Amino acid sequence: MKAKGEEVYGLAGGEPDMDTPDHIKQAGAAALMAGFTKYTPAAGIPELRDALAAKLKADNNLDYDAKDICVTSGAKMACYMAILAMVEEGDEVIIPAPYWVSYPEMVLLAGGIPVVIETTEATGWKMTAAQFEDAMTPRTKMVIINSPGNPTGAVYSAAELAALGEIALSEDITILSDEIYEKLVYGEEKHVSIASLSQDLYNITITVNGFSKGYSMTGWRLGYTAAPRALAEAIEKIQNHTVSNACSFAQYGALAALTGNQTFVNDMAAEYDVRRQFMLSRLRAITNIRVVEPKGAFYFFVYTGKLGLKSVNLCDKLLARYKVAAVPGIAFGYDDGIRLSYCTTLDVLAEGLNRFESFCREH
Ligand code: PMP
Repeated sequence: MKAKGEEVYGLAGGEPDMDTPDHIKQAGAAALMAGFTKYTPAAGIPELRDALAAKLKADNNLDYDAKDICVTSGAKMACYMAILAMVEEGDEVIIPAPYWVSYPEMVLLAGGIPVVIETTEATGWKMTAAQFEDAMTPRTKMVIINSPGNPTGAVYSAAELAALGEIALSEDITILSDEIYEKLVYGEEKHVSIASLSQDLYNITITVNGFSKGYSMTGWRLGYTAAPRALAEAIEKIQNHTVSNACSFAQYGALAALTGNQTFVNDMAAEYDVRRQFMLSRLRAITNIRVVEPKGAFYFFVYTGKLGLKSVNLCDKLLARYKVAAVPGIAFGYDDGIRLSYCTTLDVLAEGLNRFESFCREH
């Protein structure tokens, strides 16, 4: 539609709308011009792994040796390699829904069985320890926790993580902790890394993070895993025999992101908080939908069950008639909702929400 010159109000995005900060671009470009154009060690350049170990200590209170960190081609690849390292044919992986679209597919690719747990608005779209316990079988190998979460913006507290961790520990289930939205948490909320809660939890957790969201570097394809030694070695082997290494000169950009000025990150989070609050008040004023206040990331997961349309149909109509793009909830395993994101300008948000409100009123 855009190519035909039509105005489309895009509330479907999944990446920051700001450019990558200049100092990061310059570091990547300088590395490229300086000839860092060859293979790197499989797990990444040593300087970056050292900087990541320091970051994990400073930001997350996690003691990973640089050796236990693997720089990957995006957090997406980090998740997939973590799953490949652990999941064998027929193993079950517990995934709370609404989930990030790729988790079940990754589990299936590894030969595993995704076991989807439906969370509810009542718990802020968070899986409870009781739900986790009920879903466990002797074949459960892994649980995926994504906080702050896509598509709901849910942020688990330390107590909630500890309760889930206790269940995982009781059966020695590996935790995949996807912390890609770590830098985008709002208000009083704090991001907590589950592996930081105890040595026992550290021993069963693979921490995943990356540069895409916090530093607006989605196209650079840079993420990482941090894991206990045996798992870290397995992940490094998988990387070695598949990807080889993350892009050489891009890794220098990531190094600059970690070691340089962090103003960008804080400014971006402040800007998203303004948009989040604006959107929250607009969505709350629409009577036949419901929202839970998202505490992180840059999404709202809107309950649309009362509109009487399945999510794909709803998004098709919203786009065709009102020129608003949204993502159907079914993509996240929940058909009575849609995801709206606020990684776009306030102007687009305002008009997109005007149109969404009209759409809801007419249904
Ligand atoms: N995890 C979650 C929850 C995400 O939303 C995304 C990006 N949409 C990723 C991982 C992957 O990020 P990237 O590969 O760009 O680092």
